[in-house]
Amino acid sequence: MKTKAILFDRDGTLGELADKRYPQTLSPYCDIREAFLKIKEKGYFVGILSNQSSVARGTGAGYDFDGEFSRYGADIWKICPHDNADGCDCRKPKSGMLLSAAAALGIPLEECMIVGDRLSDIQCAKNVGARAVLVLTGYGKEEREQVLSLYPETPVLPRFDEILKLL
Ligand SMILES: [Zn+2]
Repeated sequence: MKTKAILFDRDGTLGELADKRYPQTLSPYCDIREAFLKIKEKGYFVGILSNQSSVARGTGAGYDFDGEFSRYGADIWKICPHDNADGCDCRKPKSGMLLSAAAALGIPLEECMIVGDRLSDIQCAKNVGARAVLVLTGYGKEEREQVLSLYPETPVLPRFDEILKLL
């Protein structure tokens, strides 16, 4: 099965948050729009799946995620606006955002790939038969050992835009 959609985590994957409570403080690791364009030119859908408990906590309420993600040129995006205590089905490692993105794109889960810096990103994909790639930005270096002990086949990349080398 060939990968058809690449779904990125946001915080710690596409960029670094200067203040982890505030989604608007993201500093991109590189030109996200340009990286997405190159991936799309190779024939893949590009998406973003982001846990944003900042919304539940109020520090991200009103932030224009739609505007940001459309500026990047993403084909699809989902945010989970909940916090742990809400017990929702979308907060990663739960797979709700991935399931709805795959359904909206009309792509089987085996043809979806999540790229993220946390074990929860990898589990979100693996729990439903999707592929996953760990990046070493954000929490990636800290979580690498645990990810590889549970999912030894996981590819590891220094930064999200290096995914182009795997495609
Ligand atoms: Zn949620």
